[in-house]
Amino acid sequence: MSLRSKKEISYYIIVILCIGFVIILSFFSINSLKQDYFDSIGKRAFSIAIVTANNIRLSDLEVERLEDLQFEDLLNDTANVKFERDARKFMKEAGIKYIYLMRRLPSEKMKYWVHEDEVDYFGVPEGTKLDTIYLLDAVIDHQTRLEDTDNQWYRDEDRYTILDPGILEIYDNNEATYTFYEDEWGGYLTGFAPVYSTDGSYIGMLGVDIFIEEYAALVNKRVMILAIFNFISVVMGIIIINSLRRIYKTNADANHFRQKSYIDDMTDLLNRRTLKERSKEYWNKGLNEDIPITVVMLDIDYFKAYNDNYGHMVGDELISKVASAIKLCTRENEDMLFRYGGDEFMILFFDTEMNKVNLIIKRIREHVKGILIQGVHERVTLSFGIASMVPTKDSDLNQLISRADQALYSAKQKGRDCIHTYNNQT
Ligand code: GH3
Ligand code: MG
Repeated sequence: MSLRSKKEISYYIIVILCIGFVIILSFFSINSLKQDYFDSIGKRAFSIAIVTANNIRLSDLEVERLEDLQFEDLLNDTANVKFERDARKFMKEAGIKYIYLMRRLPSEKMKYWVHEDEVDYFGVPEGTKLDTIYLLDAVIDHQTRLEDTDNQWYRDEDRYTILDPGILEIYDNNEATYTFYEDEWGGYLTGFAPVYSTDGSYIGMLGVDIFIEEYAALVNKRVMILAIFNFISVVMGIIIINSLRRIYKTNADANHFRQKSYIDDMTDLLNRRTLKERSKEYWNKGLNEDIPITVVMLDIDYFKAYNDNYGHMVGDELISKVASAIKLCTRENEDMLFRYGGDEFMILFFDTEMNKVNLIIKRIREHVKGILIQGVHERVTLSFGIASMVPTKDSDLNQLISRADQALYSAKQKGRDCIHTYNNQT
């Protein structure tokens, strides 16, 4: 797999991870938003339940009397009429649909049981006794009461129920609390508070049902806004990342091409084009601090013959092997290596003693003699020309290179496979 496609894949992985992260974040923030809403509504239901429960004044006797009323009679009874009238003063404002007082009955007062068609609704077997009565019952308005009974009046039986296990637990705990539940009429947040008789006995649990459909609509609206905001953030994020990638890629491409134009493809050494630019700093430092610069030119002996005898491919292989030998024997961060052209190379030494230069040359010669190419039997040799000078204002690098070149020429003249220094060649 190419480096580029690896980069592409990791980019897409990052994008997918970002999207996943935002989705998870959205999920959690939406949930916590919903939870916050439910908590605040629940606390309201809970407070209303406590206040309403504290306002109920029923004696044990009155409780018994209310237990015995038919539903129809309860709704017309002064106690329930007052309870409902007081409740309706705030029910609408507070979004409350039902307020009721649940009371568990002693078994002798249980009048009804679960019919076959009610098994699913109550979740208990047919015949189970309805053990809980709505002792007091307030509905937000007359119309709602009608709608809830499909425009028929409540049957007496509708006043009795069975508490589901969650509510039963709350009932038995005797403590004010709130909970969320759903039934066939919708989702409710219900606040509960215990009600005690004026004689001090526990009558039952007051329930305040806040119908949360409209709150749910509000939450959904907020959730939609949040989701849209998150989506826009992701899209913006991707656009920004893409733009940055493009800028980065353009810069990287520019750098790549710039580098490329400095480097010789076949040998990975610097090419002649860079010589002037790269050596300027060396030369100026040498000029300012009186530091010598040494140029070594080296050229493969009888290279043309390799080309002629073995072909250009072998010639190319030889050039790159000589370049590798030069790289291996020189100091990576101190010496500058160039492919000067064809089979000719140049090394620029800065502030390097001649014996060190000679040692490096010796190593190069040994390495080059050891070069093996399949099918080639001749040993490879090089000729070297050396010139060294401390830079002066009247001289320049070209002059030094031309001296090294003359020395190289002289080495070739003297039969090749040897070293000549400019000073020696007179
Ligand atoms: P000398 O010992 O005097 O250096 O003799 P030589 O045969 O090496 O002669 P010279 O250095 O003048 O020959 C250079 C030859 O290298 C000429 C050219 O055809 C060949 N050449 C230049 N660049 C390349 C290259 O990139 N690949 C190959 N295979 N040959 C090249
Ligand atoms: Mg040559």
